[in-house]
Amino acid sequence: MAKQDDGRCLMSSIIIVDDQATNRNLFARLAKSISSDISVNAFADPLSALSWLSENTPDLIISDYKMPQMDGAEFIRRIRQIPSLIDLPVVVVTVYEDREFRLQALEAGATDFLQSPVDHHEFATRARNLLKMRHQQLLLASRADGLERELEHSERSRVQALRDSSERLAQVIDTVPAMISAADRDGKILFTNEYQTRLLGLDPAKVVGQDATALFGDEQGARSKSLDRVVWDTGRPISAFEEEFSDRAGETRTVLTTKSPLRTSTDAITAVLTTSMDISERKQAEAHLHHITHHDTLTGLPNRVLLQERLNAEIVRSRRGNRTVTLHLIDLDSFKPINDVLGHTAGDRFLIETAKRLTQLVGKNGTVARLGGDEFAVMQTGTGGAEEASELAARIGQTVSEPYEIFGTPIATTASIGIALHPHNAANVEDLLRSADLAMYQAKSDGGNLHRFYVEDMTMRAREAAALDAELKQAIADEQFTLYYQPRMDLSTGMIVGAEALLRWHRPGIGIVAPGVFLPRVEESGLILPLGEWVLKEACQRAKQWQGAGLPTIRVSVNLSALQFRKQDVPALVAKTLATTGLAPDLLELEITESIMLEDTEAVVRDLHGLRELGVSISIDDFGVGYSSLQYVKNLPVDRIKVDRCFIRNITTDPNDAAILRAIVSLGHSLDLAIVGEGVETAEQLAHLRIEGCDEGQGYYLGKPMPFEEFIAFVKADSKHVHLA
Ligand code: C2E
Ligand code: CA
Ligand code: CA
Repeated sequence: MAKQDDGRCLMSSIIIVDDQATNRNLFARLAKSISSDISVNAFADPLSALSWLSENTPDLIISDYKMPQMDGAEFIRRIRQIPSLIDLPVVVVTVYEDREFRLQALEAGATDFLQSPVDHHEFATRARNLLKMRHQQLLLASRADGLERELEHSERSRVQALRDSSERLAQVIDTVPAMISAADRDGKILFTNEYQTRLLGLDPAKVVGQDATALFGDEQGARSKSLDRVVWDTGRPISAFEEEFSDRAGETRTVLTTKSPLRTSTDAITAVLTTSMDISERKQAEAHLHHITHHDTLTGLPNRVLLQERLNAEIVRSRRGNRTVTLHLIDLDSFKPINDVLGHTAGDRFLIETAKRLTQLVGKNGTVARLGGDEFAVMQTGTGGAEEASELAARIGQTVSEPYEIFGTPIATTASIGIALHPHNAANVEDLLRSADLAMYQAKSDGGNLHRFYVEDMTMRAREAAALDAELKQAIADEQFTLYYQPRMDLSTGMIVGAEALLRWHRPGIGIVAPGVFLPRVEESGLILPLGEWVLKEACQRAKQWQGAGLPTIRVSVNLSALQFRKQDVPALVAKTLATTGLAPDLLELEITESIMLEDTEAVVRDLHGLRELGVSISIDDFGVGYSSLQYVKNLPVDRIKVDRCFIRNITTDPNDAAILRAIVSLGHSLDLAIVGEGVETAEQLAHLRIEGCDEGQGYYLGKPMPFEEFIAFVKADSKHVHLA
């Protein structure tokens, strides 16, 4: 970046590296469109880019990942070897499926990612933000540099020079458009820059010397202090993570925060420096992008993508619950002629009107989506079954066929509606959509203006179910079931503190079968009662056994189904099992889902209190996909919250999921609940959970579910086998 004396930039330089000419040209055009004072150099291969970089210093690099001579990770590694390019922002373009590549690029030192095909708006926003950050970096460096040079030439006494320099440095820090503060070991604020106090509407004189909460507020302050402690303990910085807070105007801002140790000349840490850069603009762009990719532009309704997401969430929610998810697919019978005769504008008006009516009809009790053309969908959840679904279909048909007045012409159409229900017709989203689609075609071919349910060969299904039931009954008698154990780790110490007992069926002729396949049958047939009793006893016995094997104290967690609470005296069963196995109650944890609260709440609450009195702990499983909020959980005797794995899956990439986790952690902690993250599959997810303050973690990355003997060996081998970075 060419600079004037005052550090203002004259021109920013961006380089593009991509082996495909079309991409190269597109990126160059987008980069130039950011502002008039940008110069762009494009390279078709990383080697010629590197040779140019050995003599020039640009402000931003945008590079493809898959390139012939070397991949993006190698390219970045070589860039980082050039001293002047250590901090240079590098954006890597990958396609969504390339998550592996992203990790590799991140390890090599990539700054950010863009997803291919690249969204133009997002490209511009990201590039602009990174240039802004780069500009600040250079500004700070050049000012500190000038200061140093001045000092060298100064004839004043060293003390005077030092005093001046710290004053000047303070001025520099005040002018940087980022929040900068430092705190001592006790969490007291040592200094804060003007930008920060202005943004927060605080008086700097009243903040310095105070606890960090005086600056950041209670919630963020507590978080800041605990992260500072990590820096004090490890001596290592915490790299950029996102935070949200309210400024003095009450507006929510998103900032990218970094924490690093400040050291004396003898290398001792004297303070922790916190810097936060405002990235609200980029967040808004992302939110905007999210909205447009999830909604239909004509009607503003959720589109197919969002419908699928919501269906998926509802299906997860109904797990271990007996709730129904109902899908109505609606196809207008005579939309095409309206469009052809009255024109597209009228057609559009007609669709918008239909969308409005459907939304009004369904209200808050479901989701209306437009799947494309003249096809709409309504999703609902509840305990009502076919009868309710058919009633709704009748009302939809009626609403849609009320004549519309469009440009003065009254027009009318009817609808063909296909209905499918989860879990009755389909176990997953794809099957549910397909079943509803088949039903809709049936309605159409039966003449339209009516609704049809998805039907399958009922007798066949019943026969299959009966055969499986018989097999399962035999399996219980023959003791074909076994339990696998999956380790649960304490995220602050890295120790294994628990194990979840997970049911497996040794199905003759087939092998080990996971519960997803048979659990629904076992619940429906009521076999879950004897099986659940067996699971509890087996798990307690084993836990007692591993205590005897000289293992550290490890809690065992047992999953309970809603049906057990409905049909059994669970506290009595647990008391009996603890007595016969001799397991200490505090080594048993019971996992229940929020869906059991939908049953007889009073009885469930009574049972939970009964269990609490026994001394066992209780966790809410699959949290986040259900209905009860944390405020609701507050009134229950619950010890832990297990955040469902669907929130962990994209935790490092999806800001919504990250925000949800953060909210659960902070609210949960204020209610004295421990937070457990499940489905941890990568080192990045683990690091993220730790930074967010999750207490415990579970997932394939920390250990898969394994047979008893293997679990014992696993714990013995190295209870700290996962290295907490
Ligand atoms: P859950 O309680 O949510 O159990 C965790 C499930 O996630 C387990 O599947 C486990 O193998 C899987 N899992 C663990 N780590 C990861 C990961 O990193 N990534 C992914 N994708 N998955 C991970 P599993 O063993 O198939 O159990 C499925 C469900 O069956 C359990 O979900 C639980 O709801 C139910 N279940 C299992 N055992 C019992 C039981 O003894 N009684 C009852 N009532 N339900 C059980
Ligand atoms: Ca569980
Ligand atoms: Ca779970």
